Amino acid sequence: MIHVAELIERKRDGGELSDEEVSELVLAYGCGDVPDYQMAAFCMAVFFRGLSPRETFALTDAMVRSGETLDLAAAIGRKVVDKHSTGGVGDKTSLAVAPLVAACGVPFGKMSGRGLGHTGGTLDKLESIPGFRVELTDDEFVAQVRDVGIAIIGQTADLVPADKGLYALRDVTATVDQVSLIAASIMSKKIAAGAQAVVLDVKVGDGAFMKTLESARDLAEAMRGLGERAGLEVVCELTDMDQPLGAAVGNALEVREAAATLRGEGPPDFTELVLVSAAHLLALSDLGVGHEEARGRAEAAIADGSAVDMYGRWIRAQGGDPDEGALPTAPVVRQVIADGGGFVRELGAVRVGLAALRLGAGRQEKGDEIDHSVGVICREKRGDRVETDDVLAEIHARDDESAASAAAEVAAAYELGPEPPEPRPIILETIA
Ligand code: URA
Repeated sequence: MIHVAELIERKRDGGELSDEEVSELVLAYGCGDVPDYQMAAFCMAVFFRGLSPRETFALTDAMVRSGETLDLAAAIGRKVVDKHSTGGVGDKTSLAVAPLVAACGVPFGKMSGRGLGHTGGTLDKLESIPGFRVELTDDEFVAQVRDVGIAIIGQTADLVPADKGLYALRDVTATVDQVSLIAASIMSKKIAAGAQAVVLDVKVGDGAFMKTLESARDLAEAMRGLGERAGLEVVCELTDMDQPLGAAVGNALEVREAAATLRGEGPPDFTELVLVSAAHLLALSDLGVGHEEARGRAEAAIADGSAVDMYGRWIRAQGGDPDEGALPTAPVVRQVIADGGGFVRELGAVRVGLAALRLGAGRQEKGDEIDHSVGVICREKRGDRVETDDVLAEIHARDDESAASAAAEVAAAYELGPEPPEPRPIILETIA
């Protein structure tokens, strides 16, 4: 029997736990034998003292063992790839990358999450598509990856149950943004979901958990190390989240932008991230191609229409209507107008994310209903030159009152100045 208070005390004082102690603690918490107050104290001790790489792996391994695991390679007979983002504003990358990779002949299987705070979640975006089912059984998930080449679903209850409890606890005890805890949480889900190779998009900046390149690097290295020990190939991209990704922020608006990108009509920063991520996944796959050839194939799949065809097959396979006309639209559209000229020097991701959240695109409280039609379209981005009276952004709202307050919030997110800002690429660094 473990003495939880003794483990908390040791971690509080900077000591290390053995693999067995970490494992027992996590599994006991997973089945309700350790109360939330002790686990919360443990997480806070970890927040200040950190975990060694060995402890972080023991935590990840115990979380994986807290539930069921899938072996997609064995079930499908092919190497399956996956991608994950640490979360950002306007981040609809999976909606475009997954069908692009599948169109190039590589099976893609992913379990996704819902929005957290000011960041949107892939599942909420997919649910804006009428009829789309995010809840498939494990067998349906495997069959769809095998037969259609692509599936994205919600995390099933049996997979890494310890993370569900722990994440909810961290969310309300100010212990989310700790590198080892984030790395273990993300990688336990990736390992349990059964893909063999994964691209991890670690967001950096104002709108991300990781505010600096150094902390993003630490997280990337920690996740790559965990993947390696579990036999999972990992490539990490460190990408810009100082401003929203692409133009659209809000569920149905983002689905439209992802589909447009698959037709070759996407915003430049988002298109670049989609192509680079798809190229990494193809290069990691069993196609046996290098990064350059992989990028060429991804570009060709957009140009010849096979990427958008695959998008339609995927959405239909999960019960949805891929016709963009079927997506919900907001009754009120209001423009945010520039009251002076200059270059866009900043476009605050958190401010835009919060404006979209308050319009109803996200949840202010657990269990809130989402309005899939609302959100923000950023017509001008960092570095763009604008003139007085140009449209900076569009607000899609359910009524005039919420449109007006979102317009004020989005206007405040724009900082204009006489000089252009330093260019900042969408992909800041790659760790392979
Ligand atoms: N996403 C996760 O899945 N877990 C974390 O801890 C943070 C982001």
